Amino acid sequence: MTKLSIRDLDLTDKRVLIRVDFNVPLKDGIITDDTRIRETLPTIEYALRHKAKVILCSHLGRPKGKPVAAMSLRPLVDHLRTMLDHVLGDDENVAFSPDCIGEVASEMAANLESGQPLLLENLRFHPEEEANDPAFSKKLASLCDIYVNDAFGSAHRAHASTEGITHFVKQSAAGLLMEKELTYLGKALTEPDKPFVAIIGGAKVSDKIGVIDNLLNDGPAKADAIIIGGGMAYTFLNAQGQATGKSLVESDKIDVAKATLAKAKEKGVRFLLPVDHVLADKFAPNAKTQLFSGHGAFPDDLMALDIGPKSISLFEDEIADARTIIWNGPMGVFEMPAFARGTNEIAAAVARNRDATTIVGGGDSVAAIQQSGVASRITHISTGGGASLEFLEGKTLPGVAALTNK
Ligand code: AMP
Repeated sequence: MTKLSIRDLDLTDKRVLIRVDFNVPLKDGIITDDTRIRETLPTIEYALRHKAKVILCSHLGRPKGKPVAAMSLRPLVDHLRTMLDHVLGDDENVAFSPDCIGEVASEMAANLESGQPLLLENLRFHPEEEANDPAFSKKLASLCDIYVNDAFGSAHRAHASTEGITHFVKQSAAGLLMEKELTYLGKALTEPDKPFVAIIGGAKVSDKIGVIDNLLNDGPAKADAIIIGGGMAYTFLNAQGQATGKSLVESDKIDVAKATLAKAKEKGVRFLLPVDHVLADKFAPNAKTQLFSGHGAFPDDLMALDIGPKSISLFEDEIADARTIIWNGPMGVFEMPAFARGTNEIAAAVARNRDATTIVGGGDSVAAIQQSGVASRITHISTGGGASLEFLEGKTLPGVAALTNK
């Protein structure tokens, strides 16, 4: 990694502001899923053990620039205290500042003891956060000696706490989670073990075309094979002249799909589309279904909501031979059990390949991996949906670019 890591710095007695992603789901003040907190815990623990004065900041929800009680980070204090039990003494607590900037925050940050954590209130209670306002960034920066970004999921956004602040501190480093994300995703794009297979699914061509394009470009990121599933497959099949009934098709993307198919052929990249389908008479869990195989026209009144068994086995063969696999997007409408088989089988196939570095990103594919109970066999599950997509598109993430070079 070319960027400074928290491991490169002497943190002792320093005020270290860590931008984390504590954007957890809350119901009546109770955290219903604390995955995001757990992911960033190694960084927080590392800083506390190294006797830093740890200041944590995050956004939560979309309060649109003003305080909203239901989006306060205060309910996280007790939970965080429990999670940090083994690094904090019996009488030590997680302090909370009711504002992320201003007099109270400054005072609390200044009075923090080494090895103690302080959580700041939701950054997005101030409109200046998302506006990347320099004066706000400067106020945040004034709380700390060192800035650490561990919020990979927010790194594709140039906000005050992810980008602006770096202009007002001497050292900006990646946290351990950020470092892990950049290492795995970076290696996949710069020096993947070959064969390199990308599995791309989900609803729309328009959301994923940037990634597909980047994986077809010459250079190390070029995939050996691209597997397409999900709703987006039907725009590609349409582009090949197959009538796909009522399946999801982006008619304004047919030309893009044609150009992509031509480019894959020209570059010698195997481009695998589903060869059979689970067709349904409506978009509903109780739809009547039938299997459809081959390249003929689908019945006009039916839509494809999952890939069929022949496609699964075609894709499985490609996955089994790979040495690097990235996967983003489901193979069908996996939220409905009747159309989840394709996605679950692909999750299992990715997990079965123990010789490959396997990287899964995007909320739906990650959910499928978890549902299938194979998460522990995946090399890296990315915490950033949008950020990992932009990274795989070859774009520079502002929150990463802004970190100090080694
Ligand atoms: P994305 O957010 O682009 O990764 O798309 C995920 C969504 O695509 C999920 O909610 C799936 O239900 C949906 N999806 C997957 N396959 C299909 C399909 N064949 N037809 C319609 N929607 C689909």
